[in-house]
Amino acid sequence: MSGWTHRHVIDLAAFSSADFATVLELAQRFRVMPAAGTRRLPALQGRLMTSLFFEPSTRTRSSFELAARRLSADVQSFSPSSSSLSKGESLLDTARTYVAMGSDLLVVRHRCAGVPLSLARDLERSGESVAVLNAGDGLHSHPSQGLLDLFTLARHFAPDAPTPEALRGRRIVIVGDVLHSRVARSNLWALTACGATVVLCGPATLLPDDFRAFTAAPPPGQRQDPVHQRGSVELVRSLEEALPGADAVMTLRLQKERMQQQLITSAESYHRRYGISHRRLELCGRSVPVLHPGPVNRGVELAGALLDDPSICLVEEQVRNGIPIRMALLYLLSAGDRGAQGA
Ligand code: ASP
Repeated sequence: MSGWTHRHVIDLAAFSSADFATVLELAQRFRVMPAAGTRRLPALQGRLMTSLFFEPSTRTRSSFELAARRLSADVQSFSPSSSSLSKGESLLDTARTYVAMGSDLLVVRHRCAGVPLSLARDLERSGESVAVLNAGDGLHSHPSQGLLDLFTLARHFAPDAPTPEALRGRRIVIVGDVLHSRVARSNLWALTACGATVVLCGPATLLPDDFRAFTAAPPPGQRQDPVHQRGSVELVRSLEEALPGADAVMTLRLQKERMQQQLITSAESYHRRYGISHRRLELCGRSVPVLHPGPVNRGVELAGALLDDPSICLVEEQVRNGIPIRMALLYLLSAGDRGAQGA
């Protein structure tokens, strides 16, 4: 794939417009593959992907592992509880052990922001060519989720040509616990890179004012923004302000495990103010899709009836799209030393 220069995938803030286009184009090719009768490609035959998950995961881990298998890679999984970490081994030494076994791709999730990046740097310093994919680090970033959300929206708006252009000028509302959400942060970089306006909506305890300027400066450690002109970010406090004119609504889980104090009065009062239901969506003035990265607190972020309505709720479509997106990332990161093998 021409133009792809990333050795690791850590943060979508580092993606140019061309990078988003490359991932979406490849993902679409993988997405339509089963319909064309192909379920598995030999592209990563002989490669080894290791998933190192230091935090729980339902979707991301199995989706990465399935994506690797669909490309004929070997897959290895690490669980902290049954490993030598419980005997005091450092994370870097654990990673090195898997690299010594021949791992080409490390998929890493950790509760602390920055772990996948520092692991990638440490391994590079010791001369390893292994690629690191961030599968979620603390509050910082969840790039494959941001990409699969982007892909899901692009396919919704332009089913035959799901490119980043499909997002240009769209108004995407992200509602809820933005403060604790690495998914929201990744979506902010992805959606604005494609020219969408992102409307953030939530109470001040879960959505501090500074998010208005979130994409205004490159993140620490990055010299400049690889995207020339981004869409804008707005911040509002009520759904009554956010929903009129929206093209899509993205809801976020209340991340109770990351809250250090009581930030909402109760799940019921949150649902009354920020929960999305069929009735609430009437404020949009037209039919719009609803997304959620999962896991969903049924009846809190989303009314049960909406969650069960696939004509509006794209949660299962997000899960389906996660596989081709992760296939695209694994393929691109292996492309450097694979030569000119076709996808
Ligand atoms: N699964 C997503 C994540 O790992 C969203 C969530 O947990 O709420 O960030």
